[in-house]
Amino acid sequence: MQIPPFTLDRQFQEIGSEIQSEVSKVLKGGQYIGGQEIAKFEESFSNLIGVENTIGCNSGTDALVLALRALDIGVGDEVITSSFSFFATAEAISAVGANPVLVDIDPETYLINTELIEQEINSNTKAIMPVHLFGNAVNMSLIKSLAKKYDLKVIEDCAQATCTMWETSKVGSIGDIGCFSFFPTKNLGAAGDGGAVTTSDQKIAKKIRELAVHGSPIRYHHTQIGYNSRLDTIQAAILNIKIKYISKWINNRQKIANNYLDLLEKNPFISFPKISSDSISHSWNQFVIKLRNDKYFLNEDFLNLFDTDCKKYYSLRNLVKQQLFEKGINSIIYYPIPIHAQIAYKNKNFSRAKLINTERICTEVLSLPMFPEISYEEQVYVAENLNKVLKNCIQEIQISA
Ligand SMILES: *Cc1c(COP(=O)(O)O)cnc(C)c1O
Repeated sequence: MQIPPFTLDRQFQEIGSEIQSEVSKVLKGGQYIGGQEIAKFEESFSNLIGVENTIGCNSGTDALVLALRALDIGVGDEVITSSFSFFATAEAISAVGANPVLVDIDPETYLINTELIEQEINSNTKAIMPVHLFGNAVNMSLIKSLAKKYDLKVIEDCAQATCTMWETSKVGSIGDIGCFSFFPTKNLGAAGDGGAVTTSDQKIAKKIRELAVHGSPIRYHHTQIGYNSRLDTIQAAILNIKIKYISKWINNRQKIANNYLDLLEKNPFISFPKISSDSISHSWNQFVIKLRNDKYFLNEDFLNLFDTDCKKYYSLRNLVKQQLFEKGINSIIYYPIPIHAQIAYKNKNFSRAKLINTERICTEVLSLPMFPEISYEEQVYVAENLNKVLKNCIQEIQISA
């Protein structure tokens, strides 16, 4: 059996003809930028998330940049976020000239450790950017109360969390601004790049709309330096179809996650990121397992440790990944290198000592195949082989230790 980590083939078999006919309508209609499809999608997405405004844009990364710019965050300002995320989270902060302040994760949830945020707040701090990683939700009550106490803005990075709920609200409707990605592998994916910003603040919404079209409130009148960041009409047409299926897909993801948990929970060598609260609804963009790496603390060669191909460094996770691959099971590491260890940030001199849990988790996590159409038989195949492979690998490591 060959099992991909993610695939859109099966989804396309289901709704491909519907998509092709809508795309063809847009192509024949001749309006490729803006238009009804965009307005329709923005309205549906606002209804889905529970906000007053959605502004479509080019990507999730652009959504973050637009959000920061709309809040006038720039040179000299600091934004607090997690070092365990996709690079774009911090990249967006740097792109507007501000400084990302990277906080360690909670080793149980792998989300930003909310207890460590307060000590990083100073007079330059302008915002907190919680990342709802893998579809789990950051504790927004704590984030909101910190933001209130210190008069900070909250920008939610919801790229992996379309339809995640924190208590009774969808993420992206809780902070000042929510930022979403429609990259094809996300919960709601386009056929290319796409993103959106959500907010219930009319002033912020207006500003984001202007920034996304070259800083122009009226065509050819530019009041600030902006961007060219629009959601394509064709992508909006595709998203208008896909959004009808989102609850079904999230439901499937939840079932799949529960199956994996049932199939794997008895294995004492596997642990799972804790769901942040009983009152969240997890959207399971990724199903992540942790394979403990006790050797981590013995390794002094930091850059060798964070090798993307995972060949240089011998850890249980890397070994398991390789052996799963030999059985036709393709897993992925999100993320092999923490943001603070990226070469792009070598001049920032982030304190490694403060980010110890992030460093360690990057050597331990593995994402198993997860997409709404994966079958139960395939999941059983993954689980059985994982249990087998893990046994071998543990022996191998013990022998070599
Ligand atoms: C995917 C992702 C982004 C960036 O989205 P793009 O649409 O790829 O630009 C930002 N943050 C996180 C956490 C992501 O997973």
